[in-house]
Amino acid sequence: MTKYKVEHFKKDCISCGACAVINPDFWEMDAQGMADLKGSTKVGDHFELEIDEKDKDSNQEAADVCPVNIIHVKKKD
Ligand code: SF4
Repeated sequence: MTKYKVEHFKKDCISCGACAVINPDFWEMDAQGMADLKGSTKVGDHFELEIDEKDKDSNQEAADVCPVNIIHVKKKD
């Protein structure tokens, strides 16, 4: 099965909350008011989470709704 990854450049989050509203299974707001990609790991300057194909669309919706374009869903290499 094809695997995907979600990238989140949290440092540039403007705390709008849209991702957590549209996909609360994967996104929540943390104590500092920044979005948190649940279960993600810090990789360099951003956070990453591997997801299954069934969760691609809901995370792409979060990416599409993010006003500062800091969420990216990519096919895993
Ligand atoms: S939609 Fe983007 S800017 Fe808004 S809380 Fe989520 S990651 Fe942050």
